[in-house]
Amino acid sequence: MKTVTTIKQMQRLIAALRRQGKTIGFVPTMGYLHAGHGALLDRCRKENDIAVLSIFVNPLQFGPNEDFRRYPRDKKHDEMLAKKKNVDIIFYPSEKEMYPTGYLTKISVKKITGGLCGRSRPGHFDGVATVVAKLINAVSPDVMYLGQKDAQQVIVLQKLVKDLNWPIRISVVPTVREKDGLAMSSRNKYLSPGERIQAASLYRSLQYVKTLIQKGERSSKTIVGQMSKIVKRNTSTKIDYIACVNAQNLEPLARLQGKVLIALAVFIGRTRLIDNIVIKVS
Ligand code: AMP
Repeated sequence: MKTVTTIKQMQRLIAALRRQGKTIGFVPTMGYLHAGHGALLDRCRKENDIAVLSIFVNPLQFGPNEDFRRYPRDKKHDEMLAKKKNVDIIFYPSEKEMYPTGYLTKISVKKITGGLCGRSRPGHFDGVATVVAKLINAVSPDVMYLGQKDAQQVIVLQKLVKDLNWPIRISVVPTVREKDGLAMSSRNKYLSPGERIQAASLYRSLQYVKTLIQKGERSSKTIVGQMSKIVKRNTSTKIDYIACVNAQNLEPLARLQGKVLIALAVFIGRTRLIDNIVIKVS
């Protein structure tokens, strides 16, 4: 396993591998790796000659009052997991390498970034699009692996890749969960034991409305209301949003129809967690 810290070195290495006819798979992350990242790495390893993992906590995608400074970091643990997953290359650039003094460019995907997480985290998806564009330019992958847990991010990055004509396939990996259903996340580390128990209500609410929809419920208002009720049973939760939207273009739905994304963002204490499910409604 090789650790690369500069963009130039990464580009040279990839160019040499390409000359040998190797296919490149890529998993971009912010580190503090868990089994969710592990699932992406497994797929990447299986489907490509070369598996590249990037670890970079991207300041551009954090708001001024968000957790950039305290975002969990553990290079040793990450390297161990990467080794276990047979990663070939870890790309581990510094902030200065990615955004040197005088850096001025941002990439902005419009419209689909206006709702859900984009509404409560202005500028977040510009930061994500910009860093992923830079990472793609460094790694030039054939396939990029993303987690369904960040559903809006998947749609934004699919659009970015399509609009900029990059010859890259995006592979979406299902959300990996704890035993009680909580979606794995680096931010789960912030939860106190009490909050950790409450956090399971997010997935419970999604599972509950899934059964309602299976029984015929089609009103978005009812679905959102039922989910709020379950999540609010816990005193220290604050709902950022709960929404039913079209899973392809993220347009809000009054009545559920077609492929529906039910997504939520909830503060458990100070920790903002997200989760979602996709349901096909006939
Ligand atoms: P992050 O390090 O949180 O930026 O995540 C890096 C990648 O891992 C993103 O594509 C995430 O969607 C994905 N990911 C994070 N958590 C999970 C999970 N529980 N299951 C599947 N993928 C995940």
